[in-house]
Amino acid sequence: MTSTLETPAASPDASPDAREVRVAIIGSGFAGLGMAIALRRRGETDFVVLERAGDVGGTWRDNTYPGAACDVQSNLYSFSFAPNPRWGRSYSEQPEIQAYLRATADRFDVRRHCVFGADVTSARWDDAARRWHVTTTAGEFRARVLISAAGALADPARPDIPGLDTFAGTVMHSARWEHAHDLSGKRVAVIGTGASAIQVVPAIQPIVDSITVYQRTPAWVVPRTDHPVKPWTRRLYTYVPGLQRGIRAFLYLFREFLVIGLAKNRRFLRPVAKLARTHLHRQVRDPKLRKALTPDYTIGCKRILISNDYFPAVAAPNAELVTAGIAEVRPHSVVTRDGVERPTDTIVLATGFSVTDLPIAKRIRGREGRSLADVWSDGMVSNRSAAVAGFPNLFLLVGPNVGVGHTSMVYMIESQVAYVDDALRTMDAEGLDVLETTPAAQEAWRSLVAEKSKGTVWLAGGCASWYLDRHGHNTTLWPDFTFRFRRLTRKLDRENYVGVPAGAPASRPEVAA
Ligand SMILES: Cc1cc2nc3c(=O)[nH]c(=O)nc-3n(C[C@H](O)[C@H](O)[C@H](O)COP(=O)(O)OP(=O)(O)OC[C@H]3O[C@@H](n4cnc5c(N)ncnc54)[C@H](O)[C@@H]3O)c2cc1C
Repeated sequence: MTSTLETPAASPDASPDAREVRVAIIGSGFAGLGMAIALRRRGETDFVVLERAGDVGGTWRDNTYPGAACDVQSNLYSFSFAPNPRWGRSYSEQPEIQAYLRATADRFDVRRHCVFGADVTSARWDDAARRWHVTTTAGEFRARVLISAAGALADPARPDIPGLDTFAGTVMHSARWEHAHDLSGKRVAVIGTGASAIQVVPAIQPIVDSITVYQRTPAWVVPRTDHPVKPWTRRLYTYVPGLQRGIRAFLYLFREFLVIGLAKNRRFLRPVAKLARTHLHRQVRDPKLRKALTPDYTIGCKRILISNDYFPAVAAPNAELVTAGIAEVRPHSVVTRDGVERPTDTIVLATGFSVTDLPIAKRIRGREGRSLADVWSDGMVSNRSAAVAGFPNLFLLVGPNVGVGHTSMVYMIESQVAYVDDALRTMDAEGLDVLETTPAAQEAWRSLVAEKSKGTVWLAGGCASWYLDRHGHNTTLWPDFTFRFRRLTRKLDRENYVGVPAGAPASRPEVAA
C-alpha cells in the first residue's frame, strides 16, 4: 500500500496505546499465512497476523489426534507457489503438514509479523477514524483493513448430551487431543463418525481395552490410495519441478470431475457409490454390521471419506458400533436410548466444529455496532464470499460458500487471497480510505449461490449435513467447479463496491446500491 494517505484522528474511545497497522490478519492457518505471504511478496510490511495460539498452522497445529492426516494428496493440498518435493507420503500426516506450514512461514519471512497469544476478543469499525479497533489478549491494534482468516473448522463443537459434564473420566475433543492421557487398557467411547473419527478410531483401536463408536449417520467410505513417496520420486520432484506441477494439475482436474456428479448430474456418482459399497463388502463380513455401516443417502451429500482401516477397526473383536443414539452420560458410563449402559473410562468427541455459526462473527462489529453474527442471524451472506455490506474494509477468507469437500481448500484459499490482494491494491491505486461492498452485490451473490445449489447432492441427497444452515440453505460450500470460483474472484468487482477517497466525506453503499 502507498503511504500517502493521512491517518485520521483517533476517535475519543480509541486506546492511545493501540498499535497502528495498515492490515491486521486474524489467524495463521493456511489462509492467514497465504495472505501474509502475498503481502510480503509485493513488498508490504506494515501488517500483523494476530494468532491466539503460540504457533502458526491452524488446523494442522491443533488437530494432533492419533491418525490425523489430510485426505487430499499433498501435491495438491499445499501452496501452489511453495511446492514441497520432500513429502514423505502421498497423503501426509499432521506433523508433516504442520512442519510444511512452519517452514513456509519462515521461508517467506512472515513469522516476524505474527503476534502469538493474541486472541481477538473484539474488532470494531470506527467510522470517524476509518479504522478497525482490534482488541486482543496481547494488546490493542488500529488497522485500516481487517482480514479475518479465523478458520471455519477452528472451534470444536461440543455436543449437547445430558450429563456430559458429570463424566468422571477424561473427555477430549479430537481437535484438542490430550497426549498425556494414556489410552492403553481403557474403555473408550468415540462419539461421531465423520472425517476425524474415521482417522482416530483405527489409530487407537489396537491399544485400547475396548472401543465403542457411537454413530448417528454412517459415512460413505472409499479406499485411500496412500503410499510412501519413494526417494527417487522425491529427487525427481526436486530436480524436475515441472513434474510435480504436472501431477498437481492432474490431481486437480481428476477431482474436479467429481463436481459433475455432485453438482450437475448425480448419475455420475454411481460408480463412486459402487466403489464404496464394494469396499464395505470386502472389509466387513458380518451382514448386521455391514447394514449398520451402509448409508441411506446419496454419496457426496456428506463429505466422502477415505480409509482402508476404519471398517476393519470397527469390525475388530474389541470394537462395537452403536446406532441407538445416546440418551445420557453418567459419571462412569454412556447410556443409549435403548436403555443399555456401557461402562466407559474415556470419551472422545469427534463431533466436528462450529461452522454455520462462526465464533469470530460475534466478535466483529461493523457500522452501528452490528456484529457479523447479527447480520448473519438468518444465514451467512457476502459478496463473493469475501466482503459484507456494513463492514467497510473487512475481508473474509474461508467465510461463507468457500468450502469444498472434493478437492483442496488451499486452491480456494489462494483464489480468495488474490481477490483480497486486488482489493487492497485498488485502495492504494485509487487513494481510498474506505472500500465497502453493496447490499445489492451481496444479494446477487446469494442468488447465484442459491441457483447453483439447486438440485445438487448437498441439497437433494437426503442427508442432514453441516454444509447447510438451520434453514436448509447452503451457506458453507461452493456449489460448482472451483475454477469457476477462481474466475469470478480473479479481480475485484470494483462496480460492486463504494470507495471513499481519503479526506472525502463518507458515502454509504445503501445510497450507491
Ligand atoms: C482434521 C482436519 C483435516 C482436514 N483435512 C483437510 C484436507 O485433507 N483437505 C482440505 O482441503 N481441507 C482439510 N481440512 C480443512 C482445513 O481446515 C483447511 O484445509 C485449512 O487448513 C483451513 O485453513 P484456515 O487458515 O482457513 O483455518 P485454520 O487452519 O483453522 O486457521 C485459523 C486460525 O485462526 C486462529 N483464530 C481463530 N479465532 C481467532 C481469534 N479470535 N483470535 C486470534 N486467532 C484466531 C486459530 O487459532 C487458527 O490458527 C481439514 C480440517 C480438519 C479439522
